[in-house]
Amino acid sequence: MGIKVVKFGGSSLCDAEHFKKVREIVLDDPARCYVVPSAPGKRFDGDEKVTDLLYRCYRMVELNQSHEEVFARIADRYLSIVEELGIDFDMRPILSETCDAIRRRRSVDFAASRGEYLCGIVLAKYLGWDFIDPVDVIKFDRRGAFAAEWTNEMLMRAMEDHPRAVIPGFYGSYPNGDVHTFSRGGSDVSGAIVARAAEADVYENWTDVNGFLMADPRVVDNPRTIRQLTYRELRELSYMGATVLHEEAIFPVHKAGIPTNIRNTNNPEDPGTLIVAQPTEESFATPITGIAGHKDFTLITIDKAMMNAEYGFGRRVLQALEDFDVSFEHLPTGIDTMCVIVSDRELSTRKDQIIQRIRQTCQPDSIEIQSGLALIATVGYGMVRRRGTAAKLFKALYEADVNVRMIDQGSSELNIIVGVDTADFETAMRAIYHAFVGA
Ligand code: ASP
Repeated sequence: MGIKVVKFGGSSLCDAEHFKKVREIVLDDPARCYVVPSAPGKRFDGDEKVTDLLYRCYRMVELNQSHEEVFARIADRYLSIVEELGIDFDMRPILSETCDAIRRRRSVDFAASRGEYLCGIVLAKYLGWDFIDPVDVIKFDRRGAFAAEWTNEMLMRAMEDHPRAVIPGFYGSYPNGDVHTFSRGGSDVSGAIVARAAEADVYENWTDVNGFLMADPRVVDNPRTIRQLTYRELRELSYMGATVLHEEAIFPVHKAGIPTNIRNTNNPEDPGTLIVAQPTEESFATPITGIAGHKDFTLITIDKAMMNAEYGFGRRVLQALEDFDVSFEHLPTGIDTMCVIVSDRELSTRKDQIIQRIRQTCQPDSIEIQSGLALIATVGYGMVRRRGTAAKLFKALYEADVNVRMIDQGSSELNIIVGVDTADFETAMRAIYHAFVGA
C-alpha cells in the first residue's frame, strides 16, 4: 500500500467541528499515515489565529506587560476543542507550562511553535496515534538554514518506529535542540519534508478552497479550478502572485517526484488540484493552465545605436543594478534597445543613482523610464504544441482595447508575459481569461 502524507492548514483545525472533519478524512483512507497539522486558525472574520496570539504574548512579555489574558484566550481554544470532542486528556498542566515558558522568554520561535505543538498533541490523542515532536526530527543548522539531508535521515528513522503519527508543522530545532520555525505559513514546508522522508505517493495539502484557481477571483468572477498542473507551471504562476502553497513547499516534493494534491477539508468530495512533477498528456490537452499578474513595475528602456556590436554593454547595465542591490524581473531586448523591468519596490529610492550609473558606464543615446506597468503571465504547457495561443491572447487584448507595452515569451514556451498599463490590468486579465476559458 502506498503512503499519503496529509497536511491540514489552520482553517481546517480552527475548532472542534473541523477536528471531526479532519478525523473523518484521515481515517477514510488507510494510506493516510502521517498527519502534519498547523495551529488553529480563524473561526470567523475578525477572529485571531493562535499563532498571531502567541506572537502577541511574546511581544507583551518583552514589553514587560502581562501576557496572561491573551494566553488565556489561546488556552480556551484548546480546552474547548478537547472538551467538545470528549477527549480524555487534562491539558491544563501543559498549558500552564507553556504560559510559564513564554513568561520566562524562552524564545520567540518557541512561543510561536506552541500553536502547532499543542494542536498536534490534541490531534494525536483524538486519532489515537503516536506523536513525533519535530524538535527531534526536523533540523536546522546553527545559522538557521534548513538541514535537508540530516532531517530526512532523522525522519526516516523515526518513521520506522511510528508507522502512523502526527508531526506538527512549522518548526524544528537547531543542532542544540532549541526551537526554530520556518517563515509564516511554514507548515506547508514541513508537510512536504515529511512527504519526502515517507517516500509518499502523494502529499495531500488540505485547506479551505477547492484548489488552485485559474485566475485571481478578486479580478475574474468564479474562475475555474485547475485540475492538474506541473510544479514548473505552479512556480510561474506563484512568481506572478498566485498563492495557495508556501513557495518553499514545492522543492522537497518536486525533487522527489511526489505529486501534491490541494484539497478542501470542507468539501472532501472534490478532487482538488493535483500538482505533478512532469507534464502528462493532460498538461498538453488544455491551451492554458492559468493566468496571474502583478502591478507596480517600472520599465527602463536604454537605446544606443550599434549596441549589438559593443562588448559588455548588457553586463554594464546589469552591473549598475547590482551595485545598488536591485534585482530585475525581465530583460526583453531589441536590436539597439535593451529593456529592464524592475519592481517599483526594488527601484524606489535608488532610481536616480542607477540611471546616473548607466549613463556613465554605458553612454547610451537615451534612457526612458516608464512606471505604472503591470505584468500578466499566461501559463501552460498546452501552448508548446498548439498553434494560435499568442494570436488568441493578443486578439483578446486588442478587442478589449488594451495597449500592450511589452511582450516576453520564455524560450521554454511555458508562458507569455505581457506588460500593460496598471489601469488596464483588470480588463486585460479578464479578456485573456474569457478568450481561453469562455464566458
Ligand atoms: N501557524 C503558522 C502560521 O500561522 C504556520 C502555518 O500555519 O503554516 O504562519
